[in-house]
Amino acid sequence: MAERACRLRIHVITLFPEIVRVGVSCSILGRAREAGIIEVEPVDLRSFGEGPHLVVDDYPYGGGPGMVMKPGPVCRAVRAVYNEDSRIILLTPQGRRFDQQWAEEMSRESHLVLVCGRYEGFDERIREVLDAEELSVGDYVLTGGEVAALVVIEAVCRLVPGVVGDPRAPREDSFARGLLEAPRYTRPADFEGHGVPEVLLSGHHERVRRWRLRRSLLRTLQRRPDLLAGAHWDAEMRREMRMVLEELRPEPKRGDGAGAR
Ligand code: SAM
Repeated sequence: MAERACRLRIHVITLFPEIVRVGVSCSILGRAREAGIIEVEPVDLRSFGEGPHLVVDDYPYGGGPGMVMKPGPVCRAVRAVYNEDSRIILLTPQGRRFDQQWAEEMSRESHLVLVCGRYEGFDERIREVLDAEELSVGDYVLTGGEVAALVVIEAVCRLVPGVVGDPRAPREDSFARGLLEAPRYTRPADFEGHGVPEVLLSGHHERVRRWRLRRSLLRTLQRRPDLLAGAHWDAEMRREMRMVLEELRPEPKRGDGAGAR
């Protein structure tokens, strides 16, 4: 029984509805669906197939390996769920690379239609006729778009208000401010001789907050310096970054410096 108004509906057009169904039935997504905050419905592409055998693929013009997804069944399936607010997204390894920024943008939409390819992918005219966007989950090739669609659904839905219990969590996650998150610790305070930074046990919220910001900057600098240029810099972040760089500066060697002999 839905408790709240649905904020985001997602239709997933697929030859394997069960993959999607299982992927969205557990944990946070399962609960959000039960509460009616999001709706995720697989649409069985096979039922839009052609002829008595409900064919959805055919040989490629010009020859070559594999089969290509026919435009008719895909376009009919999309049109069956489309409305004027829909955003149509083809999952393909050739699309724009999915990232947190795009997840945030999509979490503000009301209806997404995710289209999963199989075989050697989509007939090119599907994108043209539907005026669809193309989205990739990374520079590698999967056998089908279902797992890619689940990646998108997970990342987008956790940003929809009400889906994650504590609204602070998505705001503090990696990438939310363009930085990696600071290291996390939980009990016990000593694990096989490895302790927890003293400040986290201090109960001093402001010091903890500043420590987390500084460690988040350090971690991003060390692991993903490419993110720093796009981070949402404010005066405090700049100040803390100067401290991080200061701490990283090598100690001058004994004998260095003006006048030392
Ligand atoms: N021949 C295609 C190419 O080289 O671009 C790859 C086809 S792939 C075997 C079959 C389907 O898996 C694609 O149509 C797409 O839906 C999905 N897929 C594979 N890799 C993906 C990725 N990195 N991101 C999103 N979808 C992907």
